Amino acid sequence: MRRVRARVEGTVQGVGFRPFVFRLASELSLAGFVLNDERGVLLEVEGGDAEVDGFLRRLADEAPPLAAVEAVRPSELAVAGERGFRILASPRGGEPAALVSPDTATCDDCLRELFDVEDRRYRYPFVNCTNCGPRFTIVGGVPYDRPLTTMAGFEMCPRCQAEYDDPADRRFHAQPNACPECGPTLCLHPNELHGDEALREAVAALRDGAVVAVKGIGGYHLACLAAREPAVAALRARKHREDKPFAVMVRDVAGAHQLVALTAEEAALLAGRDRPIVLAPRRADAPVAASVAPRSADLGVFLPYSPLHHLLLADVGEPLVMTSGNVSDEPIAHEDDDALARLEGIADLVLLNDRPIHTRTDDSVLRAVPGRRPLLMRRSRGFVPDSLPLPGDGRPLLACGAELKSTFCVAKGGRAWVGHHIGDLKHYEVLKAYEAGIEQFERLFAVVPEVVAHDEHPDYLSTRAALARTGVETVAVQHHHAHLAACLAEHGETGPAAGAIYDGSGWGRDGTVWGGELLVGDLRDFERRGHLWPVRLPGGDKAVEQPWRMAVSWLLEAGWDGPLPGPDRHRAEQVAELVRSGVASPLTTSMGRLFDAVASLCGLRDEVTYEGQAAVELEAVADAREAGTYDMPGLDARPTILAVAEDRARGVDPAVVSARFHNAVARATAAACTEELVVLSGGVFQNRRLLTATRDALEAAGHRVLVPERLPPNDGGISYGQAAVAAARSPRTARGSGSG
Ligand code: ZN
Ligand code: ZN
Ligand code: FE
Repeated sequence: MRRVRARVEGTVQGVGFRPFVFRLASELSLAGFVLNDERGVLLEVEGGDAEVDGFLRRLADEAPPLAAVEAVRPSELAVAGERGFRILASPRGGEPAALVSPDTATCDDCLRELFDVEDRRYRYPFVNCTNCGPRFTIVGGVPYDRPLTTMAGFEMCPRCQAEYDDPADRRFHAQPNACPECGPTLCLHPNELHGDEALREAVAALRDGAVVAVKGIGGYHLACLAAREPAVAALRARKHREDKPFAVMVRDVAGAHQLVALTAEEAALLAGRDRPIVLAPRRADAPVAASVAPRSADLGVFLPYSPLHHLLLADVGEPLVMTSGNVSDEPIAHEDDDALARLEGIADLVLLNDRPIHTRTDDSVLRAVPGRRPLLMRRSRGFVPDSLPLPGDGRPLLACGAELKSTFCVAKGGRAWVGHHIGDLKHYEVLKAYEAGIEQFERLFAVVPEVVAHDEHPDYLSTRAALARTGVETVAVQHHHAHLAACLAEHGETGPAAGAIYDGSGWGRDGTVWGGELLVGDLRDFERRGHLWPVRLPGGDKAVEQPWRMAVSWLLEAGWDGPLPGPDRHRAEQVAELVRSGVASPLTTSMGRLFDAVASLCGLRDEVTYEGQAAVELEAVADAREAGTYDMPGLDARPTILAVAEDRARGVDPAVVSARFHNAVARATAAACTEELVVLSGGVFQNRRLLTATRDALEAAGHRVLVPERLPPNDGGISYGQAAVAAARSPRTARGSGSG
């Protein structure tokens, strides 16, 4: 006989771990107990030697599907002569560090109940169990128990309570457990219909072409029929969103196949329990309205992930546009009063429910890359708050991220938690959500930062948030170095590596705007080995909104003596004067702006309505078969731009010019990297064609290539990169490594 106490660490709460332990212990005739506490799961078992050994071995191997066991730490105790195995209540107090799992798509068992007329949860839009349902979005604190979730206000009926208390039941300690008797209900505004009536009325309105706001897991969606042009156009007009593609929710994988070309692997991503939006090449005959994704070669599709979505899609019977419920650039609405106020002018009806959302999350977005891991473009619902490993000294730290596609990151003890996608901090509401998110993560993961990392940009609101903290050591990290470090660290590498880091902009150390950078570095430091030829950014931010300005700038820099692009000759000349004088026109090595210039020269786009639009459309037109290229010696794009302009003057098709340009950047990048290990990152590498061509060229030349997989290549990955640099640079003994 022996008795062992074991502490289990990892994502072990809210995932059915205690009932699993109960069943395993019962099977092996072991006595003892199991409980959730602030650090995870604590258990003691007592019984025969072989049985205890078997128990400890199977604990990690046979854990439930949503659990992620990171460590089992056993210690021997004196035999106590206990009988029977019990699940004990969670103690309160102490330091919380237990991991909360991400929100998870409705499981097959719950789906069966949802559509079973005999079941007591038939058509109940909040059915869930230990294996599925909301988690992160409803949790206010740890331990993960009902009183600390937004389900606290719903008292379980006797039948739900019996399920909750029965270790053999699928709903044993399922914190959001509910049924039509005792749980949340739907409500339709302004009709004030409730329950299934509300749902049926919303469905009827959708089928009539209405726009309906739907409260989901992480916030509100705006829904309308994807095939109905007037409905989609109305949604665009009311939302003030001119061109940015909408995502489409389809009932199942077969429905997705009708809209986009998917490999088996991509179909599996679509159906995964994190249920991301997957961007994939749209079919020519896809039955969706033209204004769903204008001028985009890809379409974003996703599957229902809550019972309500399943009911909606089944009842409506065709694909729905499901786009985040906000006016452009504001964060996704998640509080009911707020949603009603903000969505009133956009939606004809609002389908509410009375289960509060504690933390708002957007849908996550993946972009399929043939034959490779997909690119994560936006990491949020379904992925957050899963942790990533972080090399370094394990000191508690906070990394504040960038500004436009902001995320934050808290870390300690070799582990980092990157927050959900938050958005552009320059919007007041977004900044509030950012601050609340940091507080929430510090509480959930019990991180009291000793080190705070931030971008070198002095005016980023994230930098200001970092510098407003007192009593901490601050570490400033160069923007493109953070991109490089993030990719190295997620792959468990420390470097040195070459990093081709291409994005729109980042604070450069020489007072210019960087963005086409060839770095060589490790987690601690870097050297700027090369960069795109610098040009003027005529009018600063205006040049970001109006790609034709970049075309003028590049043409003048390259010595072009032909006519200049622009809305008219007068304005072209004004911009040319800005370029020549340098007034209000900082120098930039931005790769994003070079793509803008080429998109303008190709006649694709002179003004953008969303970030990255010109590059997206340039990629979309590129001829897949064209193998030609242009010169770009040592990332000097002057001959490239002249060749583009000459091709266009000769009437060469933009599809061919775009392809040659992509090939030129890929070839020049591969030629410029001399290190064995190469990192490709930065928002420009969300371009599938560029990424694939560059990676292929590098691998053909014998390089090992790393690309971000668990975090986005865009600025959503910056906070984690800052954390990696700060952890590598700031050993406990050293002080004041704040410059760099
Ligand atoms: Zn379930
Ligand atoms: Zn109930
Ligand atoms: Fe960036």
